Amino acid sequence: MQITRRQFFKISTAGLGTSSLTALGMAPGAALAGVRQYKLLRATETRNNCTYCSVGCGLLMYSLGDGAKNAKKKIFHIEGDPDHPVSRGSLCPKGSGLIDYIHSPQRLKYPEVREAGSKEWKRIGWDEAIERIARLMKDDRDANFVERNEKGQVVNRWTTTGFLGSSAASNETGILDVKFARALGMVHLENQARLCHGPSVAGLAPSFGRGAMTNHWVDIKNADVILVMGGNPAEAHPVGFKWAVEAKVRNKAYMMVVDPRFNRTAAVADFYAPIRAGADTAFLLGVANYLLNHDKIQHEYVKAYTNAPLIVREDYGFDEGIFSGYDAEKRAYDRSSWAYELGPDGYALRDDTLQHPRCVFNLLKMHVERYTPDMVSSICGTPREDFLKVCEVLATTCVPERTTSILYALGWTQHTGGSQMIRASAVVQLLLGNIGMPGGGINALRGHSNVQGFTDLGVLTTMLPGYLTLPHENQQSLQSYLDERTPKTLVASQVNFWRNTPKFMVSFLKGMWGDKATAENDFGYHWLPKWDRSYDVMAYVDQMYKGKVNGYLVQGFNVIAAAASSGKVRDALARLKFLVVIDPLQTETASFWENHGEFNDVDPATIQTTVFRLPSSCFAEEDGSIANSARWLQWHWAGQTPPFEARHDGKILGTLLMKLRELYEKEGGAYPEPVFNLDWHYHDPSDPHPEEVTKQLNGYALADLHDDQGRLIARKGELLSSFAHLRDDGSTSSLCWIYTGSWTQAGNQMARRDNTDTGFGNTPGWAFAWPANRRLLYNRASLDPAGKPWDPQRKFLHWDGSRWSGADVPDYPVGSPPNSGVSPFIMLQDGVGHIFSMGALVDGPFPEHYEPEESPIPANPLHSGHGKSPVSRIFKEDLPSFGTREEFPFVATSYSITEMFRHWTKHARLNAIVQPEQFVEISEKLAASKGIAAGDVIKVSSKRGYIRGKAVVTKRVMTLQVAGQEVEQVGIPVHWGFEGSTRKGFLANILTPRVGDANTQTPEYKAFLVNVEKA
Ligand code: SF4
Repeated sequence: MQITRRQFFKISTAGLGTSSLTALGMAPGAALAGVRQYKLLRATETRNNCTYCSVGCGLLMYSLGDGAKNAKKKIFHIEGDPDHPVSRGSLCPKGSGLIDYIHSPQRLKYPEVREAGSKEWKRIGWDEAIERIARLMKDDRDANFVERNEKGQVVNRWTTTGFLGSSAASNETGILDVKFARALGMVHLENQARLCHGPSVAGLAPSFGRGAMTNHWVDIKNADVILVMGGNPAEAHPVGFKWAVEAKVRNKAYMMVVDPRFNRTAAVADFYAPIRAGADTAFLLGVANYLLNHDKIQHEYVKAYTNAPLIVREDYGFDEGIFSGYDAEKRAYDRSSWAYELGPDGYALRDDTLQHPRCVFNLLKMHVERYTPDMVSSICGTPREDFLKVCEVLATTCVPERTTSILYALGWTQHTGGSQMIRASAVVQLLLGNIGMPGGGINALRGHSNVQGFTDLGVLTTMLPGYLTLPHENQQSLQSYLDERTPKTLVASQVNFWRNTPKFMVSFLKGMWGDKATAENDFGYHWLPKWDRSYDVMAYVDQMYKGKVNGYLVQGFNVIAAAASSGKVRDALARLKFLVVIDPLQTETASFWENHGEFNDVDPATIQTTVFRLPSSCFAEEDGSIANSARWLQWHWAGQTPPFEARHDGKILGTLLMKLRELYEKEGGAYPEPVFNLDWHYHDPSDPHPEEVTKQLNGYALADLHDDQGRLIARKGELLSSFAHLRDDGSTSSLCWIYTGSWTQAGNQMARRDNTDTGFGNTPGWAFAWPANRRLLYNRASLDPAGKPWDPQRKFLHWDGSRWSGADVPDYPVGSPPNSGVSPFIMLQDGVGHIFSMGALVDGPFPEHYEPEESPIPANPLHSGHGKSPVSRIFKEDLPSFGTREEFPFVATSYSITEMFRHWTKHARLNAIVQPEQFVEISEKLAASKGIAAGDVIKVSSKRGYIRGKAVVTKRVMTLQVAGQEVEQVGIPVHWGFEGSTRKGFLANILTPRVGDANTQTPEYKAFLVNVEKA
């Protein structure tokens, strides 16, 4: 019998989880007599997903050791899952090294403590670790818990200990983080999204309704034009990028890259245009100006599906870089004038002829007319003809039958004006009619494997799961919260789906507090902490540095490496009383007190922080779900047990909570009600099982539920199948309403593995995508108001006379007929895409170019008075840490490379071998002027410190002409540090400044000033 390896495994793979070939009786003697024994033969095959980037590639993990007495399962081989619709068996160099990550010599084995002032780690037992940490937490909480603020408002918050969650842990860990931290009253609850894709939510949600990638990985193949800007997917998302290559090969798509470096994506693109780091908003507004001037917009789409016709209030204005309502003293805007003019019926006034001088369309025209090709070229350093070429190609997609797909990542988000860069791209795509179209969209390529999930779950200081917000201290009752947070409909007949906020919030509260949440006690509303200001990562480091924070729990987050200005973060950690690092690996954060020579030159004896290092399991050792960039919740299974004494995150939190409850029971203490009222009724409260937790995320009927006609839709105790069934009367629970439908009475929808293509590369039978398993957001916008596809070749949905159906779940009321007047952007108050974002962003209803805080040119060519963002996040204590162009003349930009993933892969031997040490890219001209040859060690300094690395002298980085002067750019990959299997190195974020996006406080990692010298 001739069978291939793949066939062999296919016939042997029973079910979706694991299967043992030997268990099926397929012993080699019987099945393959005479053939050399195949190395995977006795293996258990387990499905999982790559833990690095948010492509979410499928894995098959092979382990041995199952079943034998005293044998622990151990993974010995990993390969790509050929059935996976996105990765189709591929893994990039990062994914290919996963086995070395799992078995890294830097895996933590036992709980350890570093006592205050000590020079070494000491092994301790789990019981001692949990007891000591609980004691420290309780003492701090009891001493510093604030029940009422100075105004007498109930606030119930604990500011002096914070929690950082991992963006690679499962959603089930994420929601346990939320329950644990919020029940204790923590307001500093954050995750990596703050430092990377926060601006995606802030830019996309006000534009279209949701803050996520609009389309999905495979859909990129449908594009006619691909613009890669603010990202480098060939390196950062290599397997997802193959769908862009597919578009080129199969669809003859034209790919353009606009980037400070001629990167590996540019190497396979059709066209490359250089740009100065930090100037992308000017470029994009220049594109908008070009489209308007050359009448290259999709008129019907713009009129029907954007807010171009709506009329803005008379008191709105913009002058010399400042929008109406600015308060210079507060460095903040009063945003009330950034709104529509309303008629007596409360709806926005409109002019469908687009003639009214204050309709959004004309305000946009006026706003972008300053961005001429010459001005764009001057600001961006992009040659004029290159800029025009990009405009011309994009303009070809203003016709209904052609689309542009925009791909971006941290090159847009990690800027002082990151949210507005994304907004600017939204304006372009709305003018072109490319949102909701297969092959169109704005594809935010998320970074970490579950940073999307941790954002969905509200592991962010002022957020709650499902993009609800944590109550502000002025919202003193559930009703006042709901009144303020539930948006009013602004155009007649629109869905305005957020009108259901009360149902989502009450169901969340029922999920948090269970039976303890009743209508009489506002469903436990006051057991949640109330915020007074943002306790984001930058702000919390500031507080820590000032000695206002005592404790910090850090789970799977190497904050000293990831946050801006690593030196300040280190000094801040040194002022803590206790630090608890929960991680599979040794991290620089846990070792911040150790002296590593010039890489971390500290004196341990002077650092009085007690540090606990707790070993946790990694992705390969847990069941659970993670959300990829395309919002797919993919369930994965454990292939081995955690090594040595490592524990699952849920078990660590569970035992800690149980210990805290024990202490509160025994001793009493500050406001223990939420600690006890938290619904933590798991089979084993010390070790919640992922299945129990994820069902809470989905939600339950707490009473028999009936529809409008009185028909039973769910019995008491059943899992809900749709968020449409949620109620605001306490008869339903759901910890995250957008995840409702992920585990229903029909089973675990996230575990589905049917890769059937229903058209355009859509595979709705694979896993579950929020919301409601929709794969392409706003897909009703792929048809005109009468229901005719804009492009007959892209008939994605159709109306069958009574309902919408097609290749995807309609993102629209399924029974709302063509020409009903219901517009496709159902989450927004007016149903249309926002060219003018009203007051949703704090720095303007239109994007505007501001110079980075550290700029290489003396003035913003657009408006010298307010050349820099008037509202960016800056702490006055950090002002001395900013450098000048005279002292630090070159623009630095940090980035990732194909072989490495942030600060994790340096622990994996394969990756450490291929990229063993820090390097820095500089242009040939800069190298020549400094006498630097390729391979020389160079010193790169900013006002915050310095790093050393090998010089890569390259044509990939070029000298630009900006505002009449030459500007050099320096490329700094970020992957090394003083822990790991690579050579010891500096943390690149020693160099980056503490200035943040005004909307999301995401720091500026991509445009700051440095000097370069031969070392
Ligand atoms: S790093 Fe990203 S592209 Fe590479 S294998 Fe992992 S998920 Fe796939």
